[in-house]
Amino acid sequence: MKKNLVILGATGSIGRQTLEVVENLAADYRIYGLTAHHQGALLSTQIRKFQPAKAVVTAAEQYQSVLAATPEWAGQLLAGPEGLIELVTDPAVDVVVSAVVGAAGIRPTLAALEAGKKVALANKECLVAAGELILAALEKEKTAALIPVDSEHSAIFQCLQAIAAPDLKQVHLTASGGPFRQFTTQQMEAITPEAALNHPTWQMGGKITIDSATLMNKGLEVIEAHWLFGLSYDRIKVVVHPQSIIHSLIELVDGSLLAQLGPADMRLPIQYALTFPERKGNPFSRLDLYQLSDLQFYPPDGARFPCLELAYAAGKAGGALPTVLNAANEEAVRAFLAGEITFLGIPRLIEQVMNEYDKGINRDLNLETILAVDAWARRVSRQYLPG
Ligand code: NDP
Ligand code: MG
Repeated sequence: MKKNLVILGATGSIGRQTLEVVENLAADYRIYGLTAHHQGALLSTQIRKFQPAKAVVTAAEQYQSVLAATPEWAGQLLAGPEGLIELVTDPAVDVVVSAVVGAAGIRPTLAALEAGKKVALANKECLVAAGELILAALEKEKTAALIPVDSEHSAIFQCLQAIAAPDLKQVHLTASGGPFRQFTTQQMEAITPEAALNHPTWQMGGKITIDSATLMNKGLEVIEAHWLFGLSYDRIKVVVHPQSIIHSLIELVDGSLLAQLGPADMRLPIQYALTFPERKGNPFSRLDLYQLSDLQFYPPDGARFPCLELAYAAGKAGGALPTVLNAANEEAVRAFLAGEITFLGIPRLIEQVMNEYDKGINRDLNLETILAVDAWARRVSRQYLPG
């Protein structure tokens, strides 16, 4: 029988690529639910093409136009963030691809796991902000499962299938280094949003592209790896690898390194998350080994890219400090894209907000306190912004 699939964030970069992957897995999957935020027109096109049972539009002003653009569709259109919860907890749903951007992914991802669904996770922010809650849900619900989509974590997950857990010494997350890898601090002062949105190896949504340029993306991924693989932070290393061919490596106790290689194409990790533990053929591009003459590796430079250090510090401190880091980063990226702060203002703002956070405030972490800390960090971030 076909599995019923929901894509949270179907109109985004990961969401659209998931739809391509599912066309290749049509024998196994049926598109049961699709969600969008602002892109009502694209959602309407997707609804007409895939005829899901349900769709959700979270930005209220798009609701009527989506209804008007899908007159023949027999499915149900839900609205707002509550619509996401209703969709993922629908008993007919088997698998949820969590590909909304940012902390907006926390509640629906958690709700899907609490309802015992298998989740293919692209939304790393929810693990950063609410890792403990997500692990608790996985522990409690026997049928719930969390499979990484993020390319680095997919690479590690794939390598881990080949070994016994005690043989793992540590993992190495690869980072492209982003477009400003070789910039001096002085050059970095003048970086424009347009330049930062131009990633050398990956085509992605705006927020993660800026995160890649600041190295915050790698910082979020370090925390993501901590929760996904149960590793302490001293066992999670980062190596800059500008070619984005090796998607990450695991190091074994005897010194052996296992790596996963592939083109910079998210469709492969998306497909693996959906077919795991099996594999399926596909028509996607393949690596030509003869083209791989020059693979480079460098240590990350924490002085020029402080976001990575801030993320390690937040992760090691634990509690709700990663929630603060994540929310302040989302506000900083928004402010940078709006021209309100400079590129180097992003880590400055995040550090200011982290310094203001008193860890004693919320010792008891539950969904309510996590969302309250997230809201607090956004308020404080805005107070530091000019104007
Ligand atoms: P995009 O910006 O391309 O897409 C984001 C999606 O989330 C869109 O469907 C958007 O809707 C929806 N969305 C935005 N805000 C909200 C909200 N407040 N409530 C509900 N839905 C919302 O992002 P990406 O696809 O690039 O990234 C998605 C996630 O996957 C991120 O967490 C990212 O870190 C992660 N990821 C992405 C990779 C990539 O290659 N792109 C690689 C690895 C991880 P709409 O467009 O209709 O407004
Ligand atoms: Mg990644």
